[in-house]
Amino acid sequence: MRIVRVSLPVPLPQLFDYTSEDATEGDVGRCVRVPFGRGEKSGVIVAIADDSAIDAARLKAVRHVQREVAPLPRDWLELVAFVARYYHAPPGEVIALALPPGLRRADAVSDREADPLLDVSDAGRAALSAPRRPSRALALLRDLVALGVVRHSVARALPSGDALADALRRGWIVGVRRANPADAAGELPQLTAEQGAALDAVLAAGPGFVPWLLQGVTGSGKTEVYLRLAARTLEAGRQVLMLVPEIALTPQLEARVAGRFPSATVISLHSGLAPGARSRGFVQALEGHADIVLGTRLAVFAALPRLGLILVDEEHDASYKQQEGVRYSARDVAVWRARQRDVPIVLGSATPSLESWQHARAGRYRSLRLSARAVASTLPAVRRIDTRRVRLDEGLSPALQAAIGERLARGEQSLVFINRRGYAPVLSCPSCSWVSPCPHCSANLVVHLADRRLRCHHCGCDSVIPRVCPVCGNQDIQPFGRGTQRIEARLVELFPDARVLRVDRDSARTRKQWEAMLATIAAGEADILVGTQMMAKGHDFAQLTLVGVVGADASLHAADFRAPERLFQQLMQVGGRAGRAHLPGEVLIQTEYPEHPLYRCLVRHDFDAFAARALDERRQAGFPPFTHQAMLRADAPALDDAMKFLAHARRLAQDSAPEGLQVFDVVPMRMTRLARRERAQLLVEAGERALLQEFVGRWIAVLRAQRLPRDLRWQLDVDPLEV
Ligand code: ADP
Ligand code: ZN
Ligand code: ZN
Repeated sequence: MRIVRVSLPVPLPQLFDYTSEDATEGDVGRCVRVPFGRGEKSGVIVAIADDSAIDAARLKAVRHVQREVAPLPRDWLELVAFVARYYHAPPGEVIALALPPGLRRADAVSDREADPLLDVSDAGRAALSAPRRPSRALALLRDLVALGVVRHSVARALPSGDALADALRRGWIVGVRRANPADAAGELPQLTAEQGAALDAVLAAGPGFVPWLLQGVTGSGKTEVYLRLAARTLEAGRQVLMLVPEIALTPQLEARVAGRFPSATVISLHSGLAPGARSRGFVQALEGHADIVLGTRLAVFAALPRLGLILVDEEHDASYKQQEGVRYSARDVAVWRARQRDVPIVLGSATPSLESWQHARAGRYRSLRLSARAVASTLPAVRRIDTRRVRLDEGLSPALQAAIGERLARGEQSLVFINRRGYAPVLSCPSCSWVSPCPHCSANLVVHLADRRLRCHHCGCDSVIPRVCPVCGNQDIQPFGRGTQRIEARLVELFPDARVLRVDRDSARTRKQWEAMLATIAAGEADILVGTQMMAKGHDFAQLTLVGVVGADASLHAADFRAPERLFQQLMQVGGRAGRAHLPGEVLIQTEYPEHPLYRCLVRHDFDAFAARALDERRQAGFPPFTHQAMLRADAPALDDAMKFLAHARRLAQDSAPEGLQVFDVVPMRMTRLARRERAQLLVEAGERALLQEFVGRWIAVLRAQRLPRDLRWQLDVDPLEV
């Protein structure tokens, strides 16, 4: 009888002991199902022992050990332990987050090659040249001979693909063994001098841990650099982990990666996958069959026995930080992971996070620069339109309208960027100044004229648009302000012959819809796009030559100290969509503050000047990255309960705060009420990360032992993005 020590997804940082008849050391890292309370839970075996602190008679037996797949390796358990330690989260919860649910439940998982490589056999070629009646199977053979080795899914999708089973049965098509995964398809572009220098620098530094910051303007060919590095890694027989910020970006990149390495096993891992597919992908990575793992933040938890390189695209993107549960930053965890496994990591962006940029400036990361575009000869011209002295037509200046008109006449595409979806941010009554509030949040309901609803963008609740003011009965209530739908409606009126396409989370709700929209745009079947930040990222549209920015000023004066950084990144990214191929691009920014330093840097494409300036301000104000922060947040139905709990936490903190730790005042969060809960926060800060970590560890242990009022919840956020 052995003791099996299990990490379970419970909000306690402890391990649980069970007995097992047949467990061995080899079971460490395997998933198990165990009885827990009256039910059952699943977790991971982290140790095998001979005795337990708990009386053997009281221990229960494990129910099932998942032995069909390889156990999670020790370095993976260390990764989980690190994340638990750094973000002060219970290890079991980190495991629950890191493992695909099916695998953790110790369900049967198949790592059968889901999509084998196929080729036409000698028999198939003979059949093609023999005199035969035409058949669908022969048509398929002809298609495949033309294509070469393809994956099952590709063959199946051909017009002749329904004959695949028949052709396989006849032995005309056979599975082929993996070819060399590093084999690149087609003619590779000649690298630019800067790309070549970047590649050489990384290769010259060798296979060990080096953190690189690849700062390259949009369209400078960062992805090409990633692909060349990936090829070298595959040649060395090792695996590549590539992180992208959003699921929406995965299809295009997946196609590009799979197209470059047709015989490599490319796995994508993100939360949009069906559970079976996610488990299968994870297991393929774990067992070393996957060559390239491409995914969103949760892919940083892939177990990769042959890991040789980590790539983090758009490293500045806020979606690398999980905003609930275990609030980890996948980018930061990726850097730790690269050090742990002693492999290089490349963080790439046109607009790095100020944290990474500062690391590079201080020499902790090494810099790679791509300052020129790979194809388009120049960066787009950025101009400011001073809107203080012009009459706007539904938010659109005459200059922007004229520029759109020119593009239409030339058959080019325009994008109007407004980072606000819906028709108008609020419905209001001019006579009593009522505005449409969300009943559950401290936010207003947004007018969605497309489906005639008022909707809260925070809690999702919605209601019909009232005909009269609910307070004074005035019949003349008006949508106030502007969102994508309103701009879209006006553009349709102004340019009746143009095809106007709105791209936001309402119009592209599913991955299918989003892909269809991308295809429509790429095919040139839309003339004017109206889009939110969904349009800002990563996409390449050859015909898009104009980007008009509307309503950006609001972020200049936001209270969050990171707001200018985000605005600059967003505008530089969205501006980068203009003129990506051979047509020159133009960006027009409508603003009432044309002399604002942020816009002046933007006009010069001078990210470095912006970053240096913003960092100076942060240094003076004592903000990150010059200090390190942790935020304790609490929420409850009554604000008073949340504030009281935090005030208590604050007293506990002050009792044990070391020198150099600053404990701020308890304050309600800026958006105090969310989904019927009132929220408050307490910030602690220190100049030294180690000091903060050591303190928070002790503090959290004390907080976990506190009795809480019913219905109060609290969470800790290390390195919070929003303060
Ligand atoms: P980024 O990731 O920096 O935005 P990409 O890698 O997507 O840039 O490259 C932008 C465009 O330039 C793509 O269409 C890509 O195929 C092309 N490209 C990249 N490098 C080269 C090169 N050396 N020669 C020709 N075209 C290139
Ligand atoms: Zn009114
Ligand atoms: Zn709401």
